[in-house]
Parts: sequence; C-alpha cells; structure tokens
Amino acid sequence: MLVKPQKDNTMLTVSKECVFDAAHVLTNHSGQCKNLHGHTYRLIVEVEQIDERNDMIIDFKDLKSVIYAVIVDRFDHAFIYNEQSVSESDIAAVIARHNMKSVGLPFRSTAENLAYYFFEQLREHVNVRSVRLYETPASYATYSREREVGGDE
Ligand SMILES: [Zn+2]
Repeated sequence: MLVKPQKDNTMLTVSKECVFDAAHVLTNHSGQCKNLHGHTYRLIVEVEQIDERNDMIIDFKDLKSVIYAVIVDRFDHAFIYNEQSVSESDIAAVIARHNMKSVGLPFRSTAENLAYYFFEQLREHVNVRSVRLYETPASYATYSREREVGGDE
C-alpha cells in the first residue's frame, strides 16, 4: 500500500484525455460562432478516490471505456444542437433526413455548458472531480468540485 487517502489537503487524482470532432453553432451569438462550424474537442476527465484494494483510483483503460461510452461514441462527428433553438433544430432536421449524426441537448452548446453536462453524465459512472473541455488548443472550460474537507475516515 503506497498511497492512502489523507485528511490533510493533499489529493491524488488520475486523468484521461480523449479527443472528438463535432460541429455546432451558437444561435444569436454576436461573433463567428453564430455560423455552423466544427471543433476538435479535447476532453480531460479527472477522477479521485483511491481504491485501496488495487492501489489505484481506476484502471486507465476502464476510465477510457466510460468516457467513450458516455461521451465520445455519442458526440464524435456529430452535430451538437440546442433543441430549444428553431434554427439549430432546422439544421438537425436536415441532417437527420440525410442519415447523418446529431445530438440534441436542452441548452446552448457552449464549452461551459458542455463541460458541466459531461461532468453530470460521468458522475453516474466514476468519481469525477473535474472535466476540462478544450474547444480550441488554447481555450477551455473547466467544471470541478472542491474536495470535501474532513469526513469520518
Ligand atoms: Zn464553436
């Protein structure tokens, strides 16, 4: 047993990085994102809480499998659209008519919203601490939860 959960403010996490390509549009945006365009999204998922039986938090392969099942397989090469937007839903209808892939969400597909959404989706499967989503190589949104201080351990 090399590492143990500590009651001080140290922390041990593991992270997995995955990449997927997707198209989207931000209706009513004043900048360039009002046009249909794509991103190579880079997603970094950080997981905490040691499993003392294995001296690891999670097998990287297992973490990758979860990220692919929950996010990458669903979003890769898809058109991500806001179901509440008439124009985005119109584009999605054309895409569906041509048997192409889209994912409808009940919110605007900003990096911030997607990071939060991915976090909520992943937390049902792993003990996720943070999700960082790069929309470009230099621009990203991070959704994270602070470590719970104290506890009964
Ligand atoms: Zn964009």
